[in-house]
Amino acid sequence: MDGKSQTKRGQGVVQWGLSVPFILMHFVPLGALWVDVSAMDWALCGVLYVVGMFFVTAGYHRYFSHRAFKTSRWMQFILAFGAQTSAQKGALWWSSHHRHHHRHSDQDDDVHSPRHGFWWSHVGWILSDRYMHTDYDAIKDMAKYPELRFLNRYHILPSVFLGSLCFLTGGWGALCIGFFLSRILLYHGTFLVNSLAHVIGRPRYDTGDDSKNSWIIAMLTLGEGWHNNHHHYQSSTTQGFYWWEIDMTYAALKVMAWMGLVWDLRRPSDRFRATNWLNGPETEVPTLLSDLPSLPSLPSLPELPAFPELPDMADLQELSSPPTPSVQSGR
Ligand SMILES: [Zn+2]
Ligand SMILES: [Zn+2]
Repeated sequence: MDGKSQTKRGQGVVQWGLSVPFILMHFVPLGALWVDVSAMDWALCGVLYVVGMFFVTAGYHRYFSHRAFKTSRWMQFILAFGAQTSAQKGALWWSSHHRHHHRHSDQDDDVHSPRHGFWWSHVGWILSDRYMHTDYDAIKDMAKYPELRFLNRYHILPSVFLGSLCFLTGGWGALCIGFFLSRILLYHGTFLVNSLAHVIGRPRYDTGDDSKNSWIIAMLTLGEGWHNNHHHYQSSTTQGFYWWEIDMTYAALKVMAWMGLVWDLRRPSDRFRATNWLNGPETEVPTLLSDLPSLPSLPSLPELPAFPELPDMADLQELSSPPTPSVQSGR
């Protein structure tokens, strides 16, 4: 797509006709009311959510959008295929729009800034006709691989493959709950990073945008909630910069690095992560609790009646000990 067509949000229009399949998908899990759903189907939903989220964060985001680590061409293909089982379009489409977000974060041209409306940033822009094609100019480094271009063109294939696999092995319950419900949760888990991670939480770095660090979003998205860190250092493989900023995607990538599947993982140096703070290290403790609503203060307890004063221990000892007999000596 040319640069001019990806312009201000005001020019984007929700294309209801093209959005029907996406909207209808949200009703598919209700099919569970008519089909047998087993505990295995719910477990499948949980597993497919976690695995899918890993491919979204490690694949779409950290690898294709930011080149935050290196890997082989085979693993690159697997990352794209795995990410596209989430039905969030092609890896090239996803990362070209994400790069655009970083170039124009929370400015007029940002594709999905909450400043243009929360629902617009969460889901509206995806339903817009303006952002349905891929800006190949923004993703030339990845678009040079024909297999990625093929996957981008037929982006629905990986999700159809996974959905079919669920149906063939687990039946309707696995399809409705294992596959469709986990895709819907994956949509909104991923979209939270575009919407809520620019609204709730705390910013550590002065990044010139509204990005925040939010542990709730980090838990739901395997580490993507440390979004202000990410805007500070986009090509870092880890988005948690301190030990308490749990980043499960990075942990999994570390394991893959030990196995030789990926390499050149990046972390911020101590010096870099200490630069450009908005306030200072003393704000760190509240960062942990910043997402929690403040608790109501407890009512104070009624004053207890004062106990009668106890006698001193020394006095008690004196009272209880028998008088010392006086020793008389004499001839
Ligand atoms: Zn952002
Ligand atoms: Zn990013």
